[in-house]
Amino acid sequence: MNQKRHTSPSRRREKYKSRSSNVTSMPKVEFDGPQLFLQAGREKSLQRHHPWVFSGAVERLEGSAQSGDTVQVCNTQGGFLAWAAYNLESQIIARVWSWQAQETIDADFFRRKITAALAERKDLKLDQHSNSMRLIHGESDGLPGLIVDQYAGVLVLQLGSAGAEHWRETITDCLQELCQPVCIYERSDSDGREREGLPTRNEVLRGQLPAGLYITENGIKITLDVAAGQKTGFYLDQRDNRALIGGLSAGRDVLNCFCYTGGFSLYALRGGAKTVLSIDSSAQALQLAQQNVELNGLDVSRAEWQDQDVFETLRKLRDQNRKFDLIVLDPPKFAPTAAFAEKAARAYKDINLLGFKLLRPGGVLASFSCSGGISDDLFQKIIAGAALDAGVDAQIIHKLHAAADHPVLLSFPEGAYLKGLVLRVAE
Ligand code: SAH
Repeated sequence: MNQKRHTSPSRRREKYKSRSSNVTSMPKVEFDGPQLFLQAGREKSLQRHHPWVFSGAVERLEGSAQSGDTVQVCNTQGGFLAWAAYNLESQIIARVWSWQAQETIDADFFRRKITAALAERKDLKLDQHSNSMRLIHGESDGLPGLIVDQYAGVLVLQLGSAGAEHWRETITDCLQELCQPVCIYERSDSDGREREGLPTRNEVLRGQLPAGLYITENGIKITLDVAAGQKTGFYLDQRDNRALIGGLSAGRDVLNCFCYTGGFSLYALRGGAKTVLSIDSSAQALQLAQQNVELNGLDVSRAEWQDQDVFETLRKLRDQNRKFDLIVLDPPKFAPTAAFAEKAARAYKDINLLGFKLLRPGGVLASFSCSGGISDDLFQKIIAGAALDAGVDAQIIHKLHAAADHPVLLSFPEGAYLKGLVLRVAE
């Protein structure tokens, strides 16, 4: 939309002030662009700074807006609530860019937001351990739908909302200028894009993708495929948890289920595991995993790989009476939203019950869920039920979550999608 139609920030601030002194409810903010009016009483979640407006909460749109345009979100009396990106195609009809009445959503806004996210990452000092990190984590960095992962000199961009899509060029320009990567690659092909009515895109935006790209994380080299791998190519969120598992692996027989490109397996092998059996149903991922073992000069003979379905294989291992000392279960997202929670709960219970049964006394189970639709509480209850049915007593020794470059905004608990429990079963 034409940002020139915005009132200048200083003029708007004036109006904001003068009106707020006259009215007790939310002040109106002059704007000749599209305004999205909410139904009476439906402004509560926005007032708590939750960044999503669901279509069911909307009363009417005044003016016209295309997907991705900035709209002013107002309460039923026209009082200002937020600036947001509009998307008629999605159940989330608007995603908030800013709660500040005086803000203008323009290139400068994105530059400031991206600069702030980069500064936060710098403060984390992750570069002492890794040359890869999540630079922008969507809603939690105030940029709904925008994910940016850095893999060595390559940035991978995922645009999951019409608003992020609308500002694609601006965002790419900012990233190029501020990070100077050798390549910016767009992996906008998640399921979320379909729900948002956006086409998929998988291509180089700037520079050239280097052949044989690998990252170094806690001294471990990991090859990844940003064009054909899962998500943006790798699961950076598990970085700290992989290191923890590496530290628990010495002398143990390890089973890594849903191993992808071998993340947990590489750490376990380096940590001195006796054997590591890794299972994944993606032959492509397993091929990279095996390359990664060689790239790190790890002992190939201690690693076994199975291109299999985990649900079936766990049953086979149980029937063969195989036993392990450390088991990692890091399945894909079984419940993208709470609506899938019940079905997902059955799947989590199934694999965790089998996991407990395959452990030797004193063994350790590291169990994860990356389902936004499964809360921490529910996850712990599922695991407790699985332990009970498996006939084992277990203690939680660690409660885990995503690494610090995946922050969670307090007003957006959906951001806390990754949860993990490390449990020790009784001798
Ligand atoms: N632990 C990994 C990330 C796991 S992602 C890491 O740290 O990098 C989930 C993985 O589960 C994907 O690699 C996917 O191929 C695999 N997967 C999904 N369903 C599966 C199934 N039924 N059996 C085996 N693997 C499966």
